[in-house]
Amino acid sequence: MQNIENMRVHFYGVQGSGSIFPSRAERDEARELSDIDLLEQIFQDLESEGGADKPINKSVEDLLGGPITRKNIAKYRKQFELSERRVYGGWTSCFRIETSDGYDIVFDCGSGFRICAQDIVDKWEIYGNRELNIFGTHAHYDHTEGFDQAAVCFDPRNKIKVIGNYQYLKALDQNLGIFSRHIDMDLKGIQTPLNYELMPSSFSSVEIRNMERYPIPETKDPTVGEYHDILEPVIIGKTVIQPFEVFHPDPCLAYRIEHNGKVFVYCTDHELRRGDDPEHPLQLASREAEDRLREHCQGIDLLYRDGQFLRAEYEGELGIGTAFGVSRKDWGHSCFEDVIEMADSCDVKETYIGHHDPNRSWAERNWMDETLTRKSAQMGRTIEMAKAETVIDL
Ligand SMILES: [Zn+2]
Ligand SMILES: [Zn+2]
Repeated sequence: MQNIENMRVHFYGVQGSGSIFPSRAERDEARELSDIDLLEQIFQDLESEGGADKPINKSVEDLLGGPITRKNIAKYRKQFELSERRVYGGWTSCFRIETSDGYDIVFDCGSGFRICAQDIVDKWEIYGNRELNIFGTHAHYDHTEGFDQAAVCFDPRNKIKVIGNYQYLKALDQNLGIFSRHIDMDLKGIQTPLNYELMPSSFSSVEIRNMERYPIPETKDPTVGEYHDILEPVIIGKTVIQPFEVFHPDPCLAYRIEHNGKVFVYCTDHELRRGDDPEHPLQLASREAEDRLREHCQGIDLLYRDGQFLRAEYEGELGIGTAFGVSRKDWGHSCFEDVIEMADSCDVKETYIGHHDPNRSWAERNWMDETLTRKSAQMGRTIEMAKAETVIDL
């Protein structure tokens, strides 16, 4: 099977809050840069034909090996390693891991889940075990919105198990009724035209629960199939997945995923809160979650972490995509600078900062990434902004 040594991690959605696409101006800019790259190559190619006292005796047609057609230009272009325009964001949160023992494990079902599910469906046509485990972090829309658009949910041969906190399971179930086979009449068809009767795959749910704080309720909740204590790892084949709580306005989980000694931590939507009062209850809760996260990240191979705001934006000194800044304290996201510090002090081998702000322009994303890549190389680290469609083999 497809040569996976340990884990293959796919980034399908790294955008925070809402899906975005480059504006016309941003697309024009990307095209312009791409045209410049190609023209530079053409001139270099032509120059190598001539010399100080030798005229260039070659036409563009000669270079292309035929008339100037789209096909010939594409063929010519392929000879050069032209820089690829980077894609930051696009779809909202969704990651997938393929394991060496043949499992597909998904983290979050933001809008990126639609494409992720297509890839899984294609794979299953050949290798299909047709069992998918989906781990959810929290109920916010940008982590659940892709669920009912995913091809994997519409095939009676498929078994889909969703594992997450109660809020995550409830967010899917109250609109779709996939676990309880019931939707309150006043919610039916309101958020989405779909529901369990129209989604033929079979669905089951596992609630990750802090049993110490919240013992299992005596009355059966139809949303929850099984309970799993947060302190215990979930084992899928050879993969060990340890959930833990992070700090966000909606209860939120992060996951430490270990397979054959390789470790990836998926931590989206976590705020290292920066307030003046260290004894403020929210400040204490945030610090506690941050300490927990750092413990799970010591010396790991790969980290994906929320770093949506620059510190100045968090403090409200700067706006994002607007001149006017508002404080972003308690919005549930961390500062870029804090993630860099954390990656360094935890000795993380590769770090990708994601959950990009939807209002941040492409040019600014590029600038931030280039600065970050340079700065982290000086630190002897790999820290980059997360890009959609990245695939990493561990
Ligand atoms: Zn989010
Ligand atoms: Zn959130």
